Amino acid sequence: MQPSTPDLVTRSLRAVWHPCTQMKHHERIPLLPIVRAQGAWLHDAHGRRYLDGISSWWVNLFGHAHPAINAAVTEQLGTLEHVMLAGCTHEPAVLLAERLSALTDGTLGHAFFASDGASAVEIALKMSFHFWRNHGHADKRDFVCIDNGYHGETLGALAVTDVALFRDAYGPLLRHAHRVPSPDARLALPGESPAQLATRALAEVARLFEARASHIAAIIVEPLVQCAAGMAMHHPSYLSGLRRLCDAHGVHLIADEIAVGFGRTGTFFAHEQAGIRPDFLCLSKGISGGYLPLSVVLSTDDVHAAFYADEVARGFLHSHSYTGNPLACRAALATLDLFESTDAIATNQARFDALEQGLHALASHPRVTHLRRRGAILAFDVDDHVQAGQLGFAQRYARHALAAGALLRPIGRTVYLMPPYILDEEEIAQLITATLDALERTLNENQ
Ligand SMILES: *Cc1c(COP(=O)(O)O)cnc(C)c1O
Repeated sequence: MQPSTPDLVTRSLRAVWHPCTQMKHHERIPLLPIVRAQGAWLHDAHGRRYLDGISSWWVNLFGHAHPAINAAVTEQLGTLEHVMLAGCTHEPAVLLAERLSALTDGTLGHAFFASDGASAVEIALKMSFHFWRNHGHADKRDFVCIDNGYHGETLGALAVTDVALFRDAYGPLLRHAHRVPSPDARLALPGESPAQLATRALAEVARLFEARASHIAAIIVEPLVQCAAGMAMHHPSYLSGLRRLCDAHGVHLIADEIAVGFGRTGTFFAHEQAGIRPDFLCLSKGISGGYLPLSVVLSTDDVHAAFYADEVARGFLHSHSYTGNPLACRAALATLDLFESTDAIATNQARFDALEQGLHALASHPRVTHLRRRGAILAFDVDDHVQAGQLGFAQRYARHALAAGALLRPIGRTVYLMPPYILDEEEIAQLITATLDALERTLNENQ
């Protein structure tokens, strides 16, 4: 073992406070010192490599160190690394806004940039409230969110998030939001189809809107897949139903496609599968190909017009220092180019069909339920009995997956695959083997 290896981990545990982590658990769970990455592979300081089966927290779309994105960012670096976007503008931000607008057929033609997903959610919530206020409806200040939804962890985003692990400690700091039942297809009653379950879930939204719409600014939804909830998938008719209810009651529809945008669900945007457009579209994660922090909220002409006036205070005065950073925008433009040059949406079909086929045997596994897929996201739930003093399923599975050569991090007892859009046949086979091996090893611990 190289002497520098334990050093990096030890120094990290001392100096770096790692995200979403009980730091003490690293006494038992090793921290991975990653020294470089290429394509779908992460290379550690011990000379081992791991297939990045979850796209480094769902951000990486075309692999690590992609030559085309590297070249675009490098070129931008020599031209303009950053300039403030208040009072100034630059080609990368304008081009990106134009291309994203075109991807919504021009219906969401106004791009407000920020740096991370939670900020995009904050922006959409504030913009919605401010829109109604500018229209003389200052009472419309409530938000509606969906059971088990996740929208980020700043206080405003956390208020519309329903993941106990992230919000329980901060409950006293959070503003009340209305919660409606999740259309998660796993919750279907015996004999109920996902579409029927969606209809049942929509009835609760209708009841709430009928009673309360004059106080409601917006409902926020993760279209098609509630990812952080454990890849909970629902029928597209839920989204078209929400659109109808929002139109009927004068409520904004905020689509949080931070995780599901950019091809993850099999279409460029998830909401396309419902044949609708939201009033606000939040994007981040894959937007820069996994290179640099960048997020954006796209909104309609109608929303933009509500802020366009002589008075300063009617404008949207929100800002972040790195808003519209040129390097990040250039990485995003190179990522959009890759969608075109690789025909990613179409070629992913065969790639993820093969992954699905490889996991097919799990459908009849005695300890596996709800094997499911939407586009480039695959998941299944595992029946595991954690024994006293033992690490949870997710942590034990993750460790076995690493031993089998893949970075996978289950959410609770849900194992999911969300790899970059570049796996070749051999890599698909390796990911399938690692997924299945890790499952058997984890379950065998408790025989
Ligand atoms: C990750 C995520 C966020 C938050 O994005 P950050 O960049 O982590 O702040 C918000 N909504 C959804 C659906 C996400 O998956």
